[in-house]
Amino acid sequence: MARYIFVTGGVVSSLGKGLSSASLAYLLQSRGYRVRLRKLDPYLNVDPGTMSPFQHGEVFVTDDGAETDLDLGHYERFSGVSAKKSDNITTGKIYSDVLKKERKGKYLGKTVQVIPHITDRIKEFIKNDSSKEDFVICEIGGIVGDIESLPFVEAIRQFANDIGKKNALFIHLTLVPYLKSSDEIKTKPTQHSVKELRSIGIQPDIIICRSERPIPLEHRRKISLFCNVNIKNVIETVDVRTIYEAPISFFKEKLDIQVLNYFKLKSKKAVNLTPWKKITKIILQTKKQINIAIIGKYVELKDAYKSLDEALTHGGIENNVKVNLIRIDSERLKVSEIKSKLQNVSGILIPGGFGKRGTDGKIEAIKYARNNKIPFLGICYGMQMAIIEFARNKLNLKKATSSEINKKGLHIIGLLNEWLKDGKKIKGTDKDLGGTMRLGSYDAKLKENSIIKKIYKKNLIKERHRHRYEVNIAYKEKFEKNGMIFSGLSPDGELPEIIELRNHPWFIGVQFHPEFKSRPLAPHPLFSSFIKASKNHK
Ligand code: GLN
Repeated sequence: MARYIFVTGGVVSSLGKGLSSASLAYLLQSRGYRVRLRKLDPYLNVDPGTMSPFQHGEVFVTDDGAETDLDLGHYERFSGVSAKKSDNITTGKIYSDVLKKERKGKYLGKTVQVIPHITDRIKEFIKNDSSKEDFVICEIGGIVGDIESLPFVEAIRQFANDIGKKNALFIHLTLVPYLKSSDEIKTKPTQHSVKELRSIGIQPDIIICRSERPIPLEHRRKISLFCNVNIKNVIETVDVRTIYEAPISFFKEKLDIQVLNYFKLKSKKAVNLTPWKKITKIILQTKKQINIAIIGKYVELKDAYKSLDEALTHGGIENNVKVNLIRIDSERLKVSEIKSKLQNVSGILIPGGFGKRGTDGKIEAIKYARNNKIPFLGICYGMQMAIIEFARNKLNLKKATSSEINKKGLHIIGLLNEWLKDGKKIKGTDKDLGGTMRLGSYDAKLKENSIIKKIYKKNLIKERHRHRYEVNIAYKEKFEKNGMIFSGLSPDGELPEIIELRNHPWFIGVQFHPEFKSRPLAPHPLFSSFIKASKNHK
């Protein structure tokens, strides 16, 4: 049976529960164990699919087509294990499952209540599809004390009791602030947070203390004493210079060893930190830098393109160059400013996006990249914009557009109500906004002698999708005659997946999101190649 590690947070949010969980997963894996990471989110949205990236950051997509919290991206990047639908759940989904069952009369007339019905459903989720794992690390979103997270905290308390406390471990991550005025480190918020946790029946086994500065022994003793935790299990996590340092820092603090000790397990292998050390060194010490422009709608919030930022950094790691991301708001990008804003960049990237706003700026930027032979990568909406730009300016189809932008005009991009998955036709629907897109991993066949084939070195690739609209294959010949090649197609040849330009050093558009599959220890070939081309450009 798997052992379960529950990670809760206290004092404030954004302390890095996701990164701590992901680092612990790496360390346990490196010691020879199989680990799975899960996230329980307390909000009422059924999934993060319809949530604005401005509010919530990126929506991460799994191979099996789930739209999940961005923490699952951290998990994948650090653990190398592809997340699944069964790894992320929200309060909204739990309630909707329970209510559906209630409507079907499955509770046989009983009063349906938070305890036991909601908590039972949460426990079911935690246990589901985990029989092959040595460890399941479950992160609880939000912080302890929030009304919303109460059912989750109650469920994990019950869960530990059900499977026996020796098989379940509670980690609590808190803030240990430093007060400048009195030059002091304060442990009181941690004490209070643990008190809150204990009031609902959970005694943490390990406390991870997030701090700006190292926590002196005397303060650790205090936390140990007041919070009833062994001093060895008071682990500090001082702000790291780059996230890639996190596994190294938790290793130094012996977090993984303390976890194994708790479960009375031995390390099967020595931890390999070499890749993280190498990456940290490149990130912190590399002198050579390049600027990459990201032109999108959600540039204000840093986390809105989390996986993309990471993938570009990974491309930099592979090419020994530091990648500076220049975020440009597509809605504010005026045609007259394009040259001045883009003249100092080595590469231009248009990420995924939705809706009409900001499309003019994107199309103009693509024209600039195409005419000035600047390396260009268009992802999903970015590829669709590249197609529209080419149609309007090169094929002289001035009315070319997408039905997402304009209901009238020449729809080179349009809604496709049917598409192929595993040989079966699936009907698309436009009734709900949530969960109605082409989602998850689909195959693409790569064209002989194309640039993309040289990059992937494969005939068939699998990449993750998240979109409603598709490029109309009927225009393929017209585009190809004029130099834009459809170099990747769905296996049935119906859906354009990749485009590239003949007379350009590096101009590629992809209908999928390669950024979801890039990992620091295995940078995605498309990003490595894009950064290489950008590095050679300037
Ligand atoms: N809005 C476009 C579509 O739905 C692109 C989506 C995206 O970029 N992920 O097809």
